[in-house]
Amino acid sequence: SAASSSRSDLDGNPIKAMTICMIGAGGFIGSHLCEKLMSETPHTVLALDVYNDKIRHLLDDAGTAAGHPWAGRIHFHRINIKHDSRLEGLIKMSDLTINLAAICTPADYNTRPLDTIYSNFIDALPVVKYCSENGKRLIHFSTCEIYGKTIGSFLPKDHPLRQDPEFYLLKEDVSPCIFGPIEKQRWSYACAKQLIERLIYAEGAENGLEFTIVRPFNWIGPRMDFIPGIDGPSEGVPRVLACFSNNLLRGEPLKLVDGGQSQRTFVYIKDAIEAVLLMIENPARANGHIFNVGNPNNEVTVKQLAEMMSEVYSKVSGEQAREVPTVDVSSKEFYGEGYDDSDKRIPDMTIINKQLGWNPKTSLWDLLESTLTYQHRTYAEAIKKATAKPVAS
Ligand code: NAD
Ligand code: UDP
Repeated sequence: SAASSSRSDLDGNPIKAMTICMIGAGGFIGSHLCEKLMSETPHTVLALDVYNDKIRHLLDDAGTAAGHPWAGRIHFHRINIKHDSRLEGLIKMSDLTINLAAICTPADYNTRPLDTIYSNFIDALPVVKYCSENGKRLIHFSTCEIYGKTIGSFLPKDHPLRQDPEFYLLKEDVSPCIFGPIEKQRWSYACAKQLIERLIYAEGAENGLEFTIVRPFNWIGPRMDFIPGIDGPSEGVPRVLACFSNNLLRGEPLKLVDGGQSQRTFVYIKDAIEAVLLMIENPARANGHIFNVGNPNNEVTVKQLAEMMSEVYSKVSGEQAREVPTVDVSSKEFYGEGYDDSDKRIPDMTIINKQLGWNPKTSLWDLLESTLTYQHRTYAEAIKKATAKPVAS
């Protein structure tokens, strides 16, 4: 198998098997990273999370992997890193720690700002400290939201400089972080992530911590978040891919927050995971760096995303698309008080390209086709049952 054949890094050196402490391994990104590490590498994963539903297909009942080709290489530990004394021991046992744990759904930023700040800053502190004190390498997941709004967003609507990349392109080592006022609690997440980035950077500068910071730009694909009322709370608000999938599965119009004029670039999770694997296996090229990971070629407005998803869903489900696929909703109605938005997010790819030679491959249409095929296959029946059932009193 790929795991046993000899593999080499970007500089031609053989890659040695390592043990990785992956915190938040049961989430969307973690589940794809675990899959990749199990099927294509010889590495061992200590998978820490409070949930394991999304990696259960990799585990047996005992939380290991007996019976799989990767038996003995993945071990699930049900741990809440907020309060668990086993954390330091697991970091010490590992060569590398990857921290994915976070509250990272925008619906929480303004409604649960304390949980958001604690999760993204306070709870991440001991992880950084244990890595630094024990001389362990850390790959920490930050966010593209760290950039906040673009400089161009402050120019008049049709000002020509808005077309100039200097005013919108997001560069790791150049762009400022521009957040709204404190009462716009949307920015609690970005601000907490910014401070933990600065702390990690300072641990590197003052104490020699070997770190890599990842800034994901809207990674999407199968297993992202939950479908409200099916595998998550019916009143829950996940990120846009799951919101729109839910609407399509239920035959409802897709809700455009404040007209859906914000722009995003979406990257396929499987492309993005390739970048993370390169970081894991090329420490000499990744340490000390902050990397944007996204697909600058896949830019759409949220409205365009909604229209494309309706078209793709109709194709993969065989159901006719609605004549009016979308409906406008105010952000106050949808998210509540204190919501605000990033206007535009195009990642500069110079640094990751130079250090790791990585480039995203999958077009927005293609990644939506495979993702919505998965959504339809996974949820269509369950939704039919849930909506047909008379409500029990
Ligand atoms: P996710 O919510 O699916 O995964 C996070 C996982 O962390 C969850 O399984 C959760 O149970 C776990 N977790 C949270 N708090 C924990 C705790 N105290 N103890 C143990 N486990 C805990 O989110 P994701 O999309 O996989 O994101 C992973 C990371 O990437 C996050 O740090 C997020 O901020 C960052 N990120 C992701 C995206 C994206 O496009 N998906 C964009 C920007 C940033
Ligand atoms: N959004 C929307 N309708 C929805 C869910 C989200 O219009 O049902 C918008 C949201 O306001 C934002 C964009 O979609 O402009 C992306 O939201 P997401 O929650 O995925 O996270 P973000 O990219 O803001 O971090």
